[in-house]
Amino acid sequence: MLAQIILRDREVTKVEEEVRIKGAPVSRGVAIGALYILQSDEKWSVPEFTISPTDIDNEIARYRTALHLSGQELDKLMIFLQEEGSGEAISIVEAHRLMLLDPVVTHDVETKIATTLKNTESIFVKEMGAYIDALMATEDPIIRQRVLDIKDLLARVLRHLHPTGALSCLNIPSQSIVCANELAPSQTAEASPNQIRAVVTKFGGSTSHAALIAKAKGIPYISNIDMSGLDSFGGAIAIVDGHLGEVIIHPSQETLNHYNAYRKDFCEPSINYGGSYIATDRTLDNKIIEVQANLEDLHDLYFLKELRTKTIGLIRSEFLYLKNNVDSFCEAEQFELYKKLMQLSGNMEVTFRIFDIGSDKRFVHTEVIEPNPALGCRSIRFLINHPKVFSTQVRAVLRAAKYGKMKLLLPLISDLHELREAKAFIENVKQDLKDDRVDFCEEIEIGCMVEVPAFVIMCDLLVRECDFVSIGTNDLAQYTFAADRSNPSTADRYRHDHPALVRMIKRVVDEAENAGIDVSICGEIASDPAYTELLIGLGITKLSCAPRFIPSIKEAIRKIDSVVARRKAYERFRI
Ligand code: PEP
Ligand code: MG
Repeated sequence: MLAQIILRDREVTKVEEEVRIKGAPVSRGVAIGALYILQSDEKWSVPEFTISPTDIDNEIARYRTALHLSGQELDKLMIFLQEEGSGEAISIVEAHRLMLLDPVVTHDVETKIATTLKNTESIFVKEMGAYIDALMATEDPIIRQRVLDIKDLLARVLRHLHPTGALSCLNIPSQSIVCANELAPSQTAEASPNQIRAVVTKFGGSTSHAALIAKAKGIPYISNIDMSGLDSFGGAIAIVDGHLGEVIIHPSQETLNHYNAYRKDFCEPSINYGGSYIATDRTLDNKIIEVQANLEDLHDLYFLKELRTKTIGLIRSEFLYLKNNVDSFCEAEQFELYKKLMQLSGNMEVTFRIFDIGSDKRFVHTEVIEPNPALGCRSIRFLINHPKVFSTQVRAVLRAAKYGKMKLLLPLISDLHELREAKAFIENVKQDLKDDRVDFCEEIEIGCMVEVPAFVIMCDLLVRECDFVSIGTNDLAQYTFAADRSNPSTADRYRHDHPALVRMIKRVVDEAENAGIDVSICGEIASDPAYTELLIGLGITKLSCAPRFIPSIKEAIRKIDSVVARRKAYERFRI
């Protein structure tokens, strides 16, 4: 009864005792929905859902196709290994082939799909999990070694059941609270706030990319929740309190009343972008502070017009790309997408950041999992190592730049050599476009994201070779404090008002001023009104944040006196 009042299209009628589980708040807001356990196991994260009897044949066919494709892969691998003469490896692959075709496993999986009416991947994972547990229980180290083979095979088959490598949020029932060990940014990007009411994960810090997207969409998000505690609550009605970082399962009527009132008072106004926001962003002492927008979705452009935003301070092109379901990295498709962006932007200036691929933003091209991806071949490093991806995007962007006002932003530059290499690369692309007699924008400003401490240390030299800089405090803090931005257990090391970060920002502002170039700040610090006074006190005059936060930042600016802000920053940090 209770649940039916909340979620009209769900049949959950049992009233159970209220359970509260505490985690870490990541994205504010409150949501009520039904728990959907997307990932229940540390390693083999698959959704479990009930299928209808008419779907049995489809599910079995899906399983057989996955086995077939895995078998083909293993065959290819065998040929390759035979050519190489790697005897030992061949015997391992042979063993995988035999396991894959094991009729007992196949029969068991297919029978269970039909009898339990559960989806293929959940049955397959359980079946293989049982083998793994049995092998792990033996004392024999050689037998235990087989576990690795089974895990390897399991991963291979799962990749074919989910070809993108990541589980999709698209097919999740509406009004769900998605619970997972970790969400990839691409999964969060797919989620619509109507369908996914909230997100609860074990991993994922407040500036992880998945969290940033959730915040921009206004989806409440809590991390640091032990998934084993939630496993048995799949389908239960729950409240996610993104302020307190609490999941309340089977809420009592009293709790529901409290949260329904709370949602009215605090949550709904923030969803309303409104049309009544004052266009000027001036401090009490009349200093102009420009509030720019971070954009990942073309849809947000409509709100920017309402908010009278003049500049898009950061386009995260990797998400723009992902959200528009462009299937390949081909130039024609990218060009059409970026052209649409420029046309929709009208008079707005667009700061287009080239692909920041890697780290927690895994794409098809980044399937090679590095041992330490945040310190690996991400962003500009990835692009320089993949010249085809780099040149294709730059060609498409330079062509689209003709349709509006655009600046190019290079992510994760760490030194002068890298900056020069990237700029030389862009010059070569321009030459190719000229040779091909293609119309493009030749005069385009090129700026750098300041995200690596090495950049800050050398910034007096670097700023002389940039047209502008934008400080990305999310990564700058991560690398300064050696604290993974996606890991809630290092969250307390990740302080935006830490003197080390504050000094870095001040240094960049001063050097940019000396070089006569623009400096803005586009990390999460810019979207939190608690830091607006500090940033103005450090001399920042351009703040770029997700559209959702623009009204509250403008409101904060109007209450700040820039002279007082400077004095306070000086007194507190001696800078
Ligand atoms: C940053 O690092 O602060 C930033 C804005 O880039 P992203 O969050 O996309 O890494
Ligand atoms: Mg960054």
